[in-house]
This record gives sequence, C-alpha cells and structure tokens, in this order.
Amino acid sequence: MSGNNKPLMIIGGGLAGCEAAWQAAIRGIPVELYEMRPKCSTGAHTGADLAELVCSNSLGSNLKDRASGVLKEELRLAGSLLVECAERAAVPAGNALAVDRKVFSAHIEQKLSEQANIKIIREEIQEIPADQTVIIASGPLSSPAISDEISRICGSDNLFFFDAIAPIIEYSSIDLDIAYTASRYNKNDEDEGDYINCPLSKEEYESFVNALTTAQRIPLKSFEDAIDSGVQAGKMSFFEGCLPVEILAGRSMQALAFGPMRPVGLIDPRTGKRPWAVLQLRQDNMSGSLYNMVGFQTNLLQKEQERVFRMIPGLENAQFVRFGQMHRNTYICAPSVLNASLQMIKNTSVFFAGQLCGVEGYMGNIAAGLLAGINASRYIQGKELLVLPDEMISGALFKYISSADAKNFQPMKANFGILPPLAAKTKSKRERYALYSRRALTKAEELFERE
Ligand SMILES: Cc1cc2nc3c(=O)[nH]c(=O)nc-3n(C[C@H](O)[C@H](O)[C@H](O)COP(=O)(O)OP(=O)(O)OC[C@H]3O[C@@H](n4cnc5c(N)ncnc54)[C@H](O)[C@@H]3O)c2cc1C
Repeated sequence: MSGNNKPLMIIGGGLAGCEAAWQAAIRGIPVELYEMRPKCSTGAHTGADLAELVCSNSLGSNLKDRASGVLKEELRLAGSLLVECAERAAVPAGNALAVDRKVFSAHIEQKLSEQANIKIIREEIQEIPADQTVIIASGPLSSPAISDEISRICGSDNLFFFDAIAPIIEYSSIDLDIAYTASRYNKNDEDEGDYINCPLSKEEYESFVNALTTAQRIPLKSFEDAIDSGVQAGKMSFFEGCLPVEILAGRSMQALAFGPMRPVGLIDPRTGKRPWAVLQLRQDNMSGSLYNMVGFQTNLLQKEQERVFRMIPGLENAQFVRFGQMHRNTYICAPSVLNASLQMIKNTSVFFAGQLCGVEGYMGNIAAGLLAGINASRYIQGKELLVLPDEMISGALFKYISSADAKNFQPMKANFGILPPLAAKTKSKRERYALYSRRALTKAEELFERE
C-alpha cells in the first residue's frame, strides 16, 4: 500500500503518461501529471502538446488479423482514452488508424483538463520521491536529470540505441503528373490505400541508391556527445526495425526495392506497368496538406536530404516541412527491474510505462500506460495488482519484457510470435492468426467486463 494520501505522480505527458493519468483518475485516484515541455525540450518534440506523436502519424493496422489491430481492439475493450481520441482525429489511411497529430493531442488535452482528479503541471521532474506512488513515463527522450534518477533507482545503467525519423513534405509540392495514387493489387490494404506513389525506373533507382549511400551523414560523434550529456552511455546500435534508409540501401543495390520501395502490385496507371521501385507517401494531417515518406528514416545532413530525395520522380520540387533525423532511445532493462504488472520489483511504489519500460511502438506504449495506470491505482487502494493474460497481445508483451533474457534485452513490438502456442493444429498462417486473434479478444472481453 502507498501508506499516505499523496496524489499519484506521473512523470511525462506523452502517450503512456496521458493514458495512465486517465485510467487512474477514472478510478478515483488524484493524479499530478508532470510534463516538462515547453519549459524543457526533448530535441524531437516540436511544441507543448500532450501526447505529441514525434514521427509517423500512423498508429498501425485496424485489422483484427494483425497483431497491432488486435492490440488496438484490446485497448478499445479496456476503455483506452487515447484510442478513443485517435479515432476522433482519424485521417484516411486504408485499414490503418492514422491521425491528424494536432487534433489528436487537442482531444487528449481537453479530456484530461476536464477530469477533476487530474492536475497537469508543466515542470521537469528531477527526483523520484520515496514517499509517493510514481509512474515514470518520461519516454525514450527522458531528460538527463530524470535519466540519472532512473539509473540510480534501477541499480543498473540505462540502455541506449539509435533510431531515426522520416521527412515530411508538402502535398502541394508533389508533382502529380508523375506521382499517382494506387493501392497495392488495387486493394485498400493496411499499408497501401490512400497513398501517393512515386515510380522509379531501373536507371533512376540505381542513380538514387548511389547518391543515397554516398551522401553526407550527420557525424555519429555528435549523437554520442548528446547522449553522454548527463547520463552514462550504455549499449548503442541501430534498431533493426527502424534502420536509416541510407544504412539499409548500403546493404545491397536491391535492398530498398525489396524493402520500403517494393513496387509489387503498384501498377503505374500512366504506363500500365509496374515500376522498378516506388516511394510511398502517406497522409500526415487531417487536411491532407502534409505527407510523410514511408520507411525513409534518415541521418543525412538536411541539405543532402533535399538534394538526394529530390532525385525521386515526382519530388523534384519537394518542400520539406520536417527533415529526417536521428534520435535517442532510452529504456530500462525491464527483465531485471519490473514484474509483469509494470511495478518495480525492488521499489514497489514505482511503476514504469511507455517506451522506457522496453515496449516498442505507439500502441504498445499506450497499452503500457493503461496497465500502469490501473495498477498504480490498485496499489494505492491496497488491491491486488493486475497481470494481463498472456493470450492477449498486451499481456504477452508485458510478460515478454519482464521475463526476457536481461543480457540481450531490446524493446519489443506487438506481434503474434510472443503469444503462447495454440492447442489446435492449423493449416495456414492466416488460420493461425485468426485463432490467435479470437483467443486474445475473448480473454480481453472477459477481463474488461469484470474490471
Ligand atoms: C524521434 C522518435 C520517433 C519515433 N517514431 C515512432 C513511430 O513513427 N512509430 C512508433 O510506433 N513509434 C515511434 N517512436 C517510439 C515511441 O512509440 C514514441 O516515442 C512514443 O511517443 C513513446 O511514448 P512514451 O509515452 O513512452 O514517451 P513520449 O511520448 O515521448 O512521452 C514522454 C514525455 O515525457 C516528457 N518528459 C521527459 N522527461 C521528463 C521529466 N524529467 N519531467 C517531466 N516530463 C518529462 C517528454 O517531454 C514527453 O512529453 C519514436 C520515438 C522517437 C524518439
């Protein structure tokens, strides 16, 4: 039990912190939600918005035979505030849930401000109090001071790796005499519907790859220095799922044509043929004035991004409203520190949520905020903490992060591979995924009906 009447302190008004605040507040717990922006910057967030999406505006698939679609449905059943706000801010993106990021944040800020149990305080927290229940949700760009504190209370160093974000360009600067909208195989599929496609011939593609791989990058040293400021450097590497496009392109001439630039099913209506490669652009805001370059996270110098990306047919005059950039990712060694309720093993009044606890992806971070909010409330109320069934995607994620091999621990994204095997034999992947999905959602329905 918390042993006093102090409010629940939540550090960080990002995806996880906002969801946690809501879940605790609706359970009758007074909450102080601390957000350091706009007084202090993270280097990647652009303003003061709560739950600002720092990169892609897509929250992933809505389809129930995809892991991120199942996770989203679990969150709907659990009464997630952020999923509700995302649906109110949705922009067209086929079967994916993509949002206008400004509208999304505005809905969240309004709901939290109107909740009587929540006080939003715009201050950086530099110390973790010993006499108060706390949720630490300061994210992958936690301030140096709080990172030091996390190191101190966790008894081990933070871990780091590099990641990168993709550029955003103005719709009006795309040449639509060259670029075309088309769905892969004419299907309005998760990743493809509503996208603008820039086609490249073999020659154009090869010149582009050559320019990309030889373009000037931001020296790595400056990132190491940035990371070193105030916190001890730990492990650093690229996260395989979010490789900078120039690193991927350097692996082989065809790496992009088989990866983010794969052209299959994207017939150019003007030629009636499949291009050699395709760059896809996804709508980024509700009014459709901004598009992001799908899979084009990068660490090139800004002037090099302009030079090289304008070689892509249709983007000759592209206006960049945001350039790609490298960023830091901070996370704790969850298997050594947390249990599956997201509570610290050694310090039971402290909970972790979001990217910091080793969950990867927007939806996973929201799910972590939801569980931490529920469990911090239960802790304060002297109730037993909730462990989600591991047949659920969210339950499997939290089981994974709390029990993985601590030596090689890396953040985990929602996927079917972490679920316990099915009892029945299946003939195809499709059938297996459908059964995983049904089992997960049945468990979630039973659980949240009781909650
Ligand atoms: C640059 C970047 C790009 C990313 N792109 C994607 C993507 O495209 N898709 C995807 O699924 N995931 C992406 N991620 C990973 C992750 O899903 C997001 O970072 C997500 O926002 C993490 O949620 P969070 O709640 O853990 O942290 P955040 O949403 O970052 O929230 C943490 C909050 O804590 C605040 N804060 C930090 N320190 C303090 C302090 N001491 N006191 C008070 N407040 C503090 C910060 O200002 C911030 O608002 C990206 C991560 C980064 C860093």
